Amino acid sequence: MTKQFQAEIAGGGICALTTAAALAQRGWKVRVHERNSEIREAGAGIYIWGNGLRVLEAVGAREEALRNANRGMASELRDCDNNVIPRVPVQGEGAVEVFALPRQQLLQALLHAALTAGVEVVTGSEAVGATPDGRLLLRDGSSLAADVVVGADGVHSRVRDSLGLASQFELLSEGAIRVMVPRLPQDGDGRFVEHWNGTRRILVTPCSPDQVYIALTCLHNDTAAARVPVDKALWTASFPHLASLIDRIGASARWDRFSMVKLKRWSQDHVAVTGDAAHAMPPNLGQGGGTAMQNGLSLAHELGAVASREDIPQALARWEERERELTEHTQLWSMLYGVLTSWPDELRTAAMGFASSHPWLSAQRLRTARSHPTGASPLATEGAA
Ligand SMILES: Cc1cc2nc3c(=O)[nH]c(=O)nc-3n(C[C@H](O)[C@H](O)[C@H](O)COP(=O)(O)OP(=O)(O)OC[C@H]3O[C@@H](n4cnc5c(N)ncnc54)[C@H](O)[C@@H]3O)c2cc1C
Repeated sequence: MTKQFQAEIAGGGICALTTAAALAQRGWKVRVHERNSEIREAGAGIYIWGNGLRVLEAVGAREEALRNANRGMASELRDCDNNVIPRVPVQGEGAVEVFALPRQQLLQALLHAALTAGVEVVTGSEAVGATPDGRLLLRDGSSLAADVVVGADGVHSRVRDSLGLASQFELLSEGAIRVMVPRLPQDGDGRFVEHWNGTRRILVTPCSPDQVYIALTCLHNDTAAARVPVDKALWTASFPHLASLIDRIGASARWDRFSMVKLKRWSQDHVAVTGDAAHAMPPNLGQGGGTAMQNGLSLAHELGAVASREDIPQALARWEERERELTEHTQLWSMLYGVLTSWPDELRTAAMGFASSHPWLSAQRLRTARSHPTGASPLATEGAA
């Protein structure tokens, strides 16, 4: 590369930091703008499947991100009587690697990878929009010229909206309260368990030696259940066998309503939009973050190969063309799982048992996890690929 290209990235989350690290590793000058005063995630865990793990490896963040993380040995679905529905193998033949870890640990690992690659991270810097020629507009009235602006500023993206790129922005009927509680010996062997009762469910995920991540999911209009701080008596009444875990929930918790975002196109001239800003999805497959990282790496891979500024709009179009189908597949299958919420318990239990043992359905659900992210091969061999 003769000229050093410049990227201004809005957002300091999983997607922004992955994109930033990968771009800087390809010789770009990169600046990240996070509106908050620090790079920080709400206290929660996160599942990272095989595709996301390959991205972490590619940007050099895997080891730090997975330190003491919980490698998925087994996941279970349980019905309202606490009976196991099917046992879904997540390790062994044909299975996919998955880890659960604290979100903040993931973010820190990506931040370190970005800083090591030379990325400049500016906190307290809020983007309010972008112009197609590659100018990032900031809240303080200033604007920064770049070869590419990346809008990785989350589901309510200002960059996306300033260019009118959204074709769908839908708040879905469900949401979740996420918390971390101390892990005790009685919590079992570390398996991931999703407990269902009517339209409420609790996902219990040990994600470090001393922390259990809990996601309490319900309809957004189930206002008592959606309330923060968590109404422990109400949730315990729905899930009496989880009383000990629920009792450990503290005052700090976060409610998020699920959303679905699709764009007319993922870029305009010198602006790209990615991560939740471009393709937010309900978290039923645990793939929103993995897909965000995957598309961030792929974006960097495509931009890393451009020779002149004039080539950038075509490079962004190629990036979208390559990634959009898998991303929309992931969104679709995440949505389909959520449909089960409104089904009667017995029907849902039967459907889950069938779906878990059906090879084609399992293959659809795990397609993203099994995919090989563009740019995940060692940098030295990329040119030859
Ligand atoms: C309940 C729940 C559970 C989930 N579980 C999983 C899971 O297990 N596995 C998984 O892969 N995914 C999961 N997801 C999805 C995952 O959290 C998101 O897909 C992922 O965080 C998207 O990353 P992002 O960087 O695009 O956006 P975000 O994580 O939202 O980051 C955006 C960043 O940009 C900053 N920002 C926002 N606006 C501006 C602005 N105007 N200027 C500057 N900065 C700005 C924000 O402060 C934030 O730091 C879950 C989601 C939910 C709601």
